[in-house]
Amino acid sequence: MTYQRILLKLSGEALMGQQQYGIDAARLMQYATEIKAVAAQGVQVAVVIGGGNIFRGVQAEAFGLDRVQGDYMGMLATVINSMALQSALEKMDVPTRLLSGLTIQRVCEPYIRRRAMRHLEKGRVVIFGAGIGSPYFTTDSAASLRAIEVEADVVLKGTRVDGIYSADPEKDPSAVRYPQISFEEVLEKNLNVMDMTAFTLCKENNLPIIVFDMNTPGNLARLIAGENLGTLVTMDGGGGRARPGSVPGGALPTLLGNEPEQA
Ligand code: UDP
Repeated sequence: MTYQRILLKLSGEALMGQQQYGIDAARLMQYATEIKAVAAQGVQVAVVIGGGNIFRGVQAEAFGLDRVQGDYMGMLATVINSMALQSALEKMDVPTRLLSGLTIQRVCEPYIRRRAMRHLEKGRVVIFGAGIGSPYFTTDSAASLRAIEVEADVVLKGTRVDGIYSADPEKDPSAVRYPQISFEEVLEKNLNVMDMTAFTLCKENNLPIIVFDMNTPGNLARLIAGENLGTLVTMDGGGGRARPGSVPGGALPTLLGNEPEQA
């Protein structure tokens, strides 16, 4: 198995499916099914879900609201999504715990690092709600921070695009996908992976990121099985997909070159 402990970041927006707002039941069930499949293989799974399908702090000003208030509303939106995912997983008999960055005693546990790690060791899917619990951050930053805290092997950023491209593939047909790339190259080429806070946290803590298409059924399991889906971001832009600790002597096999593939 390529990774023992993963942090999966799902965007709130993706949860909308074809809708304009809220949660699409079919998409929710698909995500739960994907997570169940990898958890059943013994992978320890932590999840962060965004809240963009319900509310984002940046929208607050358009509503005539205070930005900080808007950010707290966004954090609560992530708790709603997290509760929905928790229920979907439990319906499928997957044990879960929801840990929140904001204390909401009646519905979830407060985030306590040691508890999160214990839940993961026991095979429970741990969902981190309410981001990091502070305004002016995003759930991408929460994903990076929690992944570092619980010592995840990788952040898997599930999106609707199948990796990092040289340009926006939805606008530029000549855009090419990078199978692997280094943190430094992402910065040099000004590519959009995560917001800068989230990205810097990963870079400074040598935490690999994989950007992949989460909407294609089975992709999460394929990634875990070692398939070269999406784009892997690492310190040296190579190094294959084995966990740093899983290769004797710490040597990393190079599975791929660093040349972009045709889209
Ligand atoms: N948010 C925040 N602090 C955090 C995480 C989230 O203030 O640690 C707020 C912020 O307003 C953000 C919203 O919650 O816009 C929803 O999260 P995000 O935009 O990251 O969701 P996504 O884009 O993944 O759907």
